[in-house]
Amino acid sequence: MSPTDSPLHSGGCLCGAVRFCVSGEPTGGNHCHCGMCRKDSGSGVSTFVTFPANAVTWDRNPTDYESSPGKYRGFCPKCGSSLTWRSVEDANTIDLRLGSFDDPTPFKAQKHLWISTALSGFSKIDPDIDHFDQGS
Ligand SMILES: [Zn+2]
Ligand SMILES: [Zn+2]
Repeated sequence: MSPTDSPLHSGGCLCGAVRFCVSGEPTGGNHCHCGMCRKDSGSGVSTFVTFPANAVTWDRNPTDYESSPGKYRGFCPKCGSSLTWRSVEDANTIDLRLGSFDDPTPFKAQKHLWISTALSGFSKIDPDIDHFDQGS
């Protein structure tokens, strides 16, 4: 496939210091209701889309925070926007925060994770997609 056949999606943090470009389509996506994502984002639910790690190019790498052994959350060192989640157990993929895309509308998260810890008001969102009590 030539590069022109593969859709390009751009995104970045709030201040623009960290920008990325990703080619192709996500291999998955989720709305995560876990307590760590709440702390990381400061919001009630975190939505991610998963891409092959080698599909993403960064103008400047996000700063990593190791939130659990081998699990890294990437953020902008200037404005603090949370951008990524990745695990060394699955180094071939990276989760990008849906809201960091310049145009998030092409993507759909297919499942809810950690519904067992979802805040009131979130558990009935989009009953047509899969729900998991914990991570899938
Ligand atoms: Zn920033
Ligand atoms: Zn989470």
